[in-house]
Amino acid sequence: MSQKNFIDVLVVGGGISGIQAALDLANSGFKVNLIDKSPAIGGKMSQLDKTFPSNDCSMCIESPKFNECSRHPNIEILTYTEVESVKGKAGNFKVTLVKKPRYVVEEKCTGCNLCVEYCPAKVPDAYNQNISNNKAIHIHFSQALPLIPYVDPAACLYLKDGSCTICVGVCKPNAIDLHQEEELMEVQAGAIVLAPGFETFDPKLRSDYGYGVFENVVTSLDYERILSSTGPYEGTISRPSDKKHPHKIAWIQCVARARSIPTGETATARRSAVPTRKSRSSSPKTMTPAWKPPSSTTISAPSARISSVSTSVPKNSPTCASSEAMSPSARRTRKPKM
Ligand SMILES: Cc1cc2nc3c(=O)[nH]c(=O)nc-3n(C[C@H](O)[C@H](O)[C@H](O)COP(=O)(O)OP(=O)(O)OC[C@H]3O[C@@H](n4cnc5c(N)ncnc54)[C@H](O)[C@@H]3O)c2cc1C
Ligand code: SF4
Ligand code: SF4
Repeated sequence: MSQKNFIDVLVVGGGISGIQAALDLANSGFKVNLIDKSPAIGGKMSQLDKTFPSNDCSMCIESPKFNECSRHPNIEILTYTEVESVKGKAGNFKVTLVKKPRYVVEEKCTGCNLCVEYCPAKVPDAYNQNISNNKAIHIHFSQALPLIPYVDPAACLYLKDGSCTICVGVCKPNAIDLHQEEELMEVQAGAIVLAPGFETFDPKLRSDYGYGVFENVVTSLDYERILSSTGPYEGTISRPSDKKHPHKIAWIQCVARARSIPTGETATARRSAVPTRKSRSSSPKTMTPAWKPPSSTTISAPSARISSVSTSVPKNSPTCASSEAMSPSARRTRKPKM
């Protein structure tokens, strides 16, 4: 186990909260370790397109902070790292950290991306909400800090059955080490800031919305990636099923809260008032009301808010072909596309 010097503050979680906490502490003269379990810092904000309230590109706000952190003499960033255990008390914590194997030696890697280009194995890209694919070795996202790839052990052919070492051969600085193991580190810290953020609700747990069944049912975070110029469709808003431009979009809000409603009705029964496309006539009965939506409506139920929004469509545009929108080809378990 490697031993590290005493630091003033350990910040756990490198999303925007942890980044800002680390910067504020470092600017006040404290020595900070900023750790994140992901291969790069940034958290959820790094996945967003434009952000409220300024409508600035979220990466335009966040990436200068990445650089500020990486260059700050009082901040050390440890990615792909988690807390194993904490002992002691405020003023003198002894923290054991575990650094997962990235299979790339950070000090040697230049971020040239050659290994990614040559890697034959594909894996759903978690950063793009699994809407597109990436390679078994890849950089978490294009502005990532550190700008160093990591190997997904579940997808790498060498780590699965030893059948490939292409990346090792193409990497000129010999930065790839497919035998790397997890590393334990001990840190003494005066204080710990926890900034682990949040996980979004998995709508597959609510089968009535068809997430994971209908390709065009997406979460807000999926939609952020669809909107983003660094996303799977390079900023062109496309339907995942056929990559065509959607002409109508329905928003279902507060899905995670919509579990039960005080009247005793089931959430599904209450949602029979929900506006849906005519095209859903072939879909399950709970999703085919005869209700006709006005051009822009919001229905508020105690448990969920559902709004229908029409995008502005040029007069001569073809209307969205309903059978196409909900054709069997549009029903599928989410499969990534490259
Ligand atoms: C679809 C969507 C749109 C949004 N739009 C806006 C907007 O327009 N404007 C706005 O102000 N806000 C918006 N938000 C909210 C905003 O994204 C969050 O408030 C913000 O990202 C929270 O930052 P955070 O650092 O607290 O958490 P996160 O971004 O979740 O970061 C937490 C970090 O901690 C790491 N971590 C977690 N557990 C551990 C652990 N045990 N050890 C080490 N690391 C760990 C994670 O890997 C992650 O990097 C939006 C959110 C969503 C989902
Ligand atoms: S591991 Fe090697 S080939 Fe891959 S980005 Fe780093 S230096 Fe380039
Ligand atoms: S060894 Fe693994 S990561 Fe490297 S090129 Fe082959 S499949 Fe990709």
